[in-house]
Amino acid sequence: MGAMSNTENLIRIQNQLPQNVTLVAVSKTRSVAEIMEIYNAGQRIFGENKVQEMTEKWRQLPKDIQWHHIGHVQRNKIKYMGPYVTLLHGIDSLAILEEVDRQAAKHHRRINCLLQVRIAQEETKFGMTKEETLALLASDSYKNMQHASIVGLMGMASFTEDTLQIKREFLFLKALYDQITSSSLADNQFRILSMGMSGDYQIAIACGSTMVRIGSSIFGART
Ligand SMILES: *Cc1c(COP(=O)(O)O)cnc(C)c1O
Repeated sequence: MGAMSNTENLIRIQNQLPQNVTLVAVSKTRSVAEIMEIYNAGQRIFGENKVQEMTEKWRQLPKDIQWHHIGHVQRNKIKYMGPYVTLLHGIDSLAILEEVDRQAAKHHRRINCLLQVRIAQEETKFGMTKEETLALLASDSYKNMQHASIVGLMGMASFTEDTLQIKREFLFLKALYDQITSSSLADNQFRILSMGMSGDYQIAIACGSTMVRIGSSIFGART
């Protein structure tokens, strides 16, 4: 039996996803041709973590693609995404959010953002604590923004074989998400819980994910 094609991988994953879970095809390091194959199979949402690479692909590829920025973002790079980005998954400070608001205003757009919460046990620089997340949502600075909207949370679980630990981390994020959606901090736009990658998306979905970010299970291992 031959290896599955990328299109077959995509369809197999799509068939596993519940109706309410959105698939972001993570296309970082992949060529325009590889992206077009998946596009032709119907995929319209792609995720990238390098702004320059994403902008180059946005220029070259069909304009009905929705581009998501999925990792930590540097403040001085946000301006390049201002004209087109659909969703930023990696917002981890007020300063970054303020820059998104400024750039979105320049382009007369509203740009949707997810707050990245640090849920992994491993040492990582990125993501906010629960307390920082709640404080940002409650801040006057955020409330006064006209062009940046926080529409949910994102988290990355530990890179481990210990599925119970992964589950604990995702459930922690789901509990925070539920706390926010049932409070006055969130409006009805707040409805995305981005968690789950190739190695752990089934666990993430079982824990309440509404958006999975999958790269290598579609395109093969990155080299
Ligand atoms: C690369 C990346 C993914 C996809 O990882 P795979 O293991 O290839 O599915 C998801 N989320 C983020 C933030 C990433 O950087």
